[in-house]
Amino acid sequence: MENLRSLAEIKNQMANDELSLVDLCKHYLNKINNSDSNAFIEVFEDEALIKAKEIDEKFKTGNAGLLAGMIIGIKDNICYKGHCVSASSKILENFNSLFSATSVQNLITEDVIIIGRLNCDEFAMGSSNENSIYGPVHHPLNKEKVPGGSSGGSAAAVAEQLCLATLGSDTGGSIRQPASFCGVYGLKPTYGRVSRHGLLAYASSFDQIGVFTHNPEDAALMSHVMSGDDGFDGTVSSEKPNSKTIKPLQKKLQIGVPEDYLNFKNLDKEIKLQFDEILNDLSNSGHQINKLQFPFVKYIVPCYYVLTTAEACSNLARYDGAHYGHRSELANNIETTYETTRTEGFGIEVKRRIMLGNFVLSSGYYDAYFTKAQKVRRLIKNKTKEMLSDNDVLLFPTCPSTAFNIGEIKDPISMYLQDIFTVHANLTGIPAASIPIGTHSNGLPFGIQIMSDHFKEDLLFSFSQQLMSLKK
Ligand code: GLN
Repeated sequence: MENLRSLAEIKNQMANDELSLVDLCKHYLNKINNSDSNAFIEVFEDEALIKAKEIDEKFKTGNAGLLAGMIIGIKDNICYKGHCVSASSKILENFNSLFSATSVQNLITEDVIIIGRLNCDEFAMGSSNENSIYGPVHHPLNKEKVPGGSSGGSAAAVAEQLCLATLGSDTGGSIRQPASFCGVYGLKPTYGRVSRHGLLAYASSFDQIGVFTHNPEDAALMSHVMSGDDGFDGTVSSEKPNSKTIKPLQKKLQIGVPEDYLNFKNLDKEIKLQFDEILNDLSNSGHQINKLQFPFVKYIVPCYYVLTTAEACSNLARYDGAHYGHRSELANNIETTYETTRTEGFGIEVKRRIMLGNFVLSSGYYDAYFTKAQKVRRLIKNKTKEMLSDNDVLLFPTCPSTAFNIGEIKDPISMYLQDIFTVHANLTGIPAASIPIGTHSNGLPFGIQIMSDHFKEDLLFSFSQQLMSLKK
């Protein structure tokens, strides 16, 4: 079962009576028990096994859903009815979901099995999975290293094969950066493609639910199932979902490479070199590489942090000791309820962002920071539209480096700069995927990032498939 890295392989073995879902589920449960990565924070053992038995039966009678055979884990900021969801925060410890996220419900309808809940950075704020009440997640290949964040548990679980696929959320890179660090495929769909209903909000105009898989085929199928109109989320598009299967690339592409990203001073030399080799291979196979100017690189991280902290401080106002989760024992009137609950309940990074968000929204600073950042976002969007009118896709590395050591990055600004290549897709809403294509001489994997225009996931998947074949 170690070699089962795609739904197609699993279905094939099930169809030939070589594999039962019950056995596959037991295999994963056993691996989870023996893993020391701290990726899973809760396992739904009994119910997963019951479900596996049910779906085995359905499969035999030909009545199983599209995703029968797929066993997944979900990030601890996505609601699953009757199960805990805490955003890896003390403030929501032991909070039970009252409903399932639309994306989760859509997957369940197609017979996915959910095996457990995955560690993440508190409220999805972070790039290393070190900000979690459950402790850090360890990189599957090297326990001293981080798996990336904030969906670190989701990336590590797929890389370690503790389940076939996982759900994560991506506000500024939280799927693509850990996918790059752990050597798996990570997809952030177009903003509005997948309903955010049931995703604990961090920055609502950026957040998207997406997936970690071993290959673009499984990601395409999951995205197809999760997508679509939803009365619970007014920002979801009624645009037709991407196709279930990936069509091989029909034409040679115009590939835009914004050179300013490649000039970032902290970009690892070897990643840059291998990226250049990939460009060479692509050009040799007939694609056209177009070097582009993108003069906004130095504004991209500040713009992201002004806007997301502003949205976060509003979204997190609801955790007040009255509505959800934790309430301090020291609370004795309305003021101390807020103060002591929030002081005890939130971790340091979340508090920093609430303070920053309140600052950029405060009177006197609103125009200088928040309004200015909105304008910068518009300029970045316009420039990106222009780049994508002449190019089918944009291509650059997912991250400046491979996984770093746990405890290594202490300065928040250095941590924020981890997001320099990923926030572009969230600021503009376009879809993006990290392709696990490179291996560094330090033995760690790294990804290359593809972006396409809004709702062009089909193209993104076709090109992903082609890029995967260039794996070094
Ligand atoms: N690292 C980024 C941040 O801390 C991205 C987080 C995310 O995508 N959820 O905001």
